[in-house]
Amino acid sequence: MLETMYREVILYYSKNPENKGLVLNDDTYKQCHLLNPSCGDDVTIQVKIEDNLIKDARHDGKGCSICCASSSILTKQIIGKDISFSKESILEFLELVKGNIRDNSILIQEAKAFSGVKNFPARIRCASISWKALQDLLEKE
Ligand code: ZN
Repeated sequence: MLETMYREVILYYSKNPENKGLVLNDDTYKQCHLLNPSCGDDVTIQVKIEDNLIKDARHDGKGCSICCASSSILTKQIIGKDISFSKESILEFLELVKGNIRDNSILIQEAKAFSGVKNFPARIRCASISWKALQDLLEKE
């Protein structure tokens, strides 16, 4: 059941990415770039933060379908939310991909589908790279 949902979410977002494409020449956006050499994923995450809120989030890069889907879902999880909620979401997601799901999860349904990745350990990095890029960014806030 969970694995079916996981596959469907990845398939859907590889065809229908959201918030994809970076904003250029706008220094109100901060960005972080990460690579996953084992798969070839190359991800850039961009956020615009104002008054402690994530006003906008974008992603771009070349990656496998897991990585791309995860990036779209990350932006949906955090746009309009404050920094502490976003940090909490990241910590929760990084645990979830290892199979540690919380009962009172703050993650959106599509993010929860990624608990299916725990059965494919080689892909955990693909699922989490964009979340780690954002974590790096928010550390500096
Ligand atoms: Zn990958």
